[in-house]
Amino acid sequence: MAQSQLDLLRLEGSPRDIGYSHGKQGGERIRSFLEIIVKHGIESIPDFTREKALSHAKRYVPFIEDYAPDLAEEIRGIAEGANIQLEEAYLLQLRAELTQLTIENESTPEGCTSFALPSSMTEDGEVCIGQNVDLSPFYKDFGVMLHIKPDKGPAILCYSQIGTVAHAGVNSAGIGLALNAVYSSDWRPGVPRPVLYRLILEQGITSEVLKVFIDAKRASSCNYLIANKSGEIKDIEVTAQHHSVMDGQEDLMVHANHFVHPSMVKFEKRPKDKLENSKFRESRLRQLVYTCEGKVSLGKLKEFLTDHERYPTAICTHAEGNPWNFMTIASIIAQPADGIMHVSLGQGCKNEYVKYSLYNVSGKVGQNSEKKVLV
Ligand SMILES: [Zn+2]
Repeated sequence: MAQSQLDLLRLEGSPRDIGYSHGKQGGERIRSFLEIIVKHGIESIPDFTREKALSHAKRYVPFIEDYAPDLAEEIRGIAEGANIQLEEAYLLQLRAELTQLTIENESTPEGCTSFALPSSMTEDGEVCIGQNVDLSPFYKDFGVMLHIKPDKGPAILCYSQIGTVAHAGVNSAGIGLALNAVYSSDWRPGVPRPVLYRLILEQGITSEVLKVFIDAKRASSCNYLIANKSGEIKDIEVTAQHHSVMDGQEDLMVHANHFVHPSMVKFEKRPKDKLENSKFRESRLRQLVYTCEGKVSLGKLKEFLTDHERYPTAICTHAEGNPWNFMTIASIIAQPADGIMHVSLGQGCKNEYVKYSLYNVSGKVGQNSEKKVLV
């Protein structure tokens, strides 16, 4: 029977313990995911082989070991727990960095539409952040929720792919993170995106988050949307070598898959005609929020994230008839102040949003838990 909601993995302890537990609990799925990544590469990238992919992954290892030694330990733990080679565990941290560096691949961009709402615009008076995650359909089956309680630093709840250290999420310091792919021409071996996602979620305050970007030798471009419980909203567009920060503060922030900041648009790699759909999704979501009567409720956000204007390449993206063969593989609405994420496996129009929490009453994390006691 097809899975109807995302599995939740509980991980805790030292970096090695967290990785080992992730690898052990996800072992079979991790090995299947690797096989599918390689198969997909062979089908879509000229001259792609498993050996080339693994030797490519090896080039990123020193950057991660140097910049994020605890995550290097965790990735080693994933390899041990899942009984895979270390290079294979690194390959799982390199989705776009693998395909974009091996070919000039402008025709198959990644999607995603993200938003952050200040507390003044939401029904419950708390800041809210989220996104649709749009990727090739095979990724849907490898989605997972990670609940991470490290020995040091904030606890983390995030969506991810199995075997990958993080994607969008929240932490117990009240920071929320959403992401969009954007494309520049300066990609290089360096610190890949999932490692930066995780480092962001390990921070306690926004100024430390900004330092994560500035100090890293980044491998790739990305848009990072960050909201914290005190209402601070920032959008950081980065290429491998440049970055800009935009303040959201008291207004809605929406981002899709093109650079927006005046100092960053010159780094856009994709031609203008390829950006049209991204610009449409951004303006459509903005319009839906602005025309909403009253303060925005959770129900309204679900409605907006399942909007089908311009189907199938809508905010809620479907693969059928879609020239890029993309789909919304997960839809996320997060409330960082409460450590809560509502996440649907696949499109929110077809699947229910399940509530995941950093906290519950019994000391064990569980879905649909209402009371807040840090696990
Ligand atoms: Zn839909």
